[in-house]
Amino acid sequence: MERPHVIVVGGGIAGLTAAYALSGGATPDGACAITVLERDDRLGGKLASVTVEGQRIDTGPDGFLARRPEAVTLCRELGAEDQLEIPGALGASIFARGKLRAMPSRLNLGVPTSWRALARSGVLSWPALLRAGLDLVAPRRDLRGPLGDRAIGPFVARKLGRTVVATLVDPMIGGIHAGRVADMSAAVVFPPLLAAAGDNGSLMHAMAKSLPAAPPSDTPPAPVFHALHDSTSSLIDLLHAELLRRGVTITTGASVTAIDRAPLGTGTWTVTTPSETLVGDGLILATPTPVTAQLVAEVDHELAGLLSAIDYASVATITLVVPSGVLPEDRHGTGFLIPAIARRRNGAAFLASAVTWMSRKWPHLSRPDTELVRLSTGRIDDRRFTTMTDLELTAALRDELAELTGVSIPAGPSSVTRWMDAFPQYRVNHALRVQGIEAAAASHPSFAVCGAAYHGIGIPACIGSGRTAAAAVLEQLLGGAQS
Ligand SMILES: Cc1cc2nc3c(=O)[nH]c(=O)nc-3n(C[C@H](O)[C@H](O)[C@H](O)COP(=O)(O)OP(=O)(O)OC[C@H]3O[C@@H](n4cnc5c(N)ncnc54)[C@H](O)[C@@H]3O)c2cc1C
Repeated sequence: MERPHVIVVGGGIAGLTAAYALSGGATPDGACAITVLERDDRLGGKLASVTVEGQRIDTGPDGFLARRPEAVTLCRELGAEDQLEIPGALGASIFARGKLRAMPSRLNLGVPTSWRALARSGVLSWPALLRAGLDLVAPRRDLRGPLGDRAIGPFVARKLGRTVVATLVDPMIGGIHAGRVADMSAAVVFPPLLAAAGDNGSLMHAMAKSLPAAPPSDTPPAPVFHALHDSTSSLIDLLHAELLRRGVTITTGASVTAIDRAPLGTGTWTVTTPSETLVGDGLILATPTPVTAQLVAEVDHELAGLLSAIDYASVATITLVVPSGVLPEDRHGTGFLIPAIARRRNGAAFLASAVTWMSRKWPHLSRPDTELVRLSTGRIDDRRFTTMTDLELTAALRDELAELTGVSIPAGPSSVTRWMDAFPQYRVNHALRVQGIEAAAASHPSFAVCGAAYHGIGIPACIGSGRTAAAAVLEQLLGGAQS
């Protein structure tokens, strides 16, 4: 009997992981023939890098969470465990009340759990600090309860005050998604917060309980993040090489324009690119949801509607090469965040949302003569960078960096990467929407969707999503889920 043929559309980390899992995961089994179709002329999607001054620098994710197992496991399976790096600096700062200040200690994803630590950090004015302190002595009742989901921002604001949200919670949680916490789903993005809703006690106390336990004093803390020694995007090179070794067909420059159910007796799905129409027994769409919605529109109108409800934020990352000795020495941690409410000396809103001291954060990027600094710009409600040229953007951000650090930054080598419609927004009731999408997808034979839009935008979550999609399709095709 011929092996079933599965087509994966989208060669980002989710799609490539799906192909890897379809081919047997850690123990290749050759049970399926697999084709990956990728629109761009390179694989990797948001995992990408540029070479600046001889250094390979990530322009998308520069690392991944170490506490979730999926990415570390995949690296191990690909034989790259010895390439895992840990950050060379700990902690971060925030631009608050006119200057850079170390983040308060004992934050739980931006939500304070210790009033003393908050007071010591100096990030809040006295009135805002007193408002947050009310949570300890007279916690405000939460009248709405968990309700299945809640918006993070308004819930925390009711408990701790709006300034805590604008200064800490929005830059940290909102920043991860290039979104705003005003309408971000607590159920998906920060479940412990949802668990605290409906509990009318102190939010700080509730959040303290869900902080990870501190390690014993004689044990070094477990790493929170990893990168790969030759850039995080080199994970794609490793996966690519392994897939080729397994005989997976990978076609780049193949933009899928249509999918359809195959005529009876020829397979299950047809997948069309400008140059060919392929027939597959199984189909995985690992594309961003606007593309996925377009592709499924003729096959399942309801599924297309659910997918279209997920909107995306655009961002840009700008990497500057700065001569050593220019930036102030007393910088704290791996970088800093700039809240949307922060204002420049001239009263304008900052373009930059975050600054990463790349060559301090990652030892493999450290050089004696130069430092690498990454600035990020763009949020769901801030698209100003899209109207600027690369030159204008680089000059404006260099100027902001000078104002933020108090030193002038000489012009030098730089690189701009624009990520249009890159961050899916997890708005309130996202989980319900995803349930609907997955139920609709499961109603079609040997079909699944995966990627950043569903169960987490981070690399580990996308890897998990690719494996789950592959297992669902294999289950139908072969009658037994594989890895
Ligand atoms: C600037 C930035 C920083 C980030 N930082 C981090 C971080 O530090 N840590 C972390 O864990 N995550 C981070 N992320 C998030 C993470 O990188 C992404 O969520 C993840 O890589 C998305 O993977 P994916 O496979 O779902 O989608 P994508 O990477 O978007 O892959 C989808 C693929 O589908 C292809 N495609 C689209 N349309 C078609 C079509 N019609 N036919 C064929 N192919 C098509 C695309 O070209 C693309 O290659 C960051 C993201 C960005 C943009």
